[in-house]
Amino acid sequence: MRLLVVEDDPDLNRQLVTALSDAGYAVDSAADGEEGHFLGDSEPYDAIVLDLGLPKMDGISVLESWRRNDKMMPVLILTARDRWSDKVQGFDAGADDYVAKPFHMEEVLARIRALLRRSAGHATNELVCGPVTLDTRSSRVSVNGNPVRLTSHEYRLLAYLMHHNGRVVSRTELVEHLYDQDFDRDSNTIEVFVGRLRKKLGIDVIQTVRGLGYMLSPPTDAS
Ligand code: CA
Repeated sequence: MRLLVVEDDPDLNRQLVTALSDAGYAVDSAADGEEGHFLGDSEPYDAIVLDLGLPKMDGISVLESWRRNDKMMPVLILTARDRWSDKVQGFDAGADDYVAKPFHMEEVLARIRALLRRSAGHATNELVCGPVTLDTRSSRVSVNGNPVRLTSHEYRLLAYLMHHNGRVVSRTELVEHLYDQDFDRDSNTIEVFVGRLRKKLGIDVIQTVRGLGYMLSPPTDAS
């Protein structure tokens, strides 16, 4: 899952990027409204954290413009604590949720998890495919109840496939959603990660759909 943080306060921006990266997301960041608007318009983010008070272009205008351009990604806005009008304006502009400053980072993380799973159509934080369970709160993965240790890239890959369980995910889509914009993107590395992931899970849940990409499906008895 790949996220964008648009926040002009450098300390807060850094704290958000660090916390979200530590939680296993690929994270890009922007320090003003123009840059944030451009990135949100041109890159396929899974969710965006958007401050409202921004230089160059304010957060409400950024959000309205994304929505006018049919950008549907979930957006969590950061509002000033006492400004109820910020929240109303934000929701009317197309925000999905808000956190008032100052906030606890845990709350931002929880709200992002909720936005991501809801936009992918899941009701809980525990995603299941056959014997494989992935808990988005703890970033833990288990097979038949036995914990499996994954690297952050392997986890991101599995989490993306689990969120989009039931449909084919192309390699290009994986590259776009697993890496931040500064990462040296090479779709061949996806194959390498899939290979490692299959080995670590020890069962056949990641199917290769020839010419199209990958799809999760629980192992059948025949295999
Ligand atoms: Ca600000």
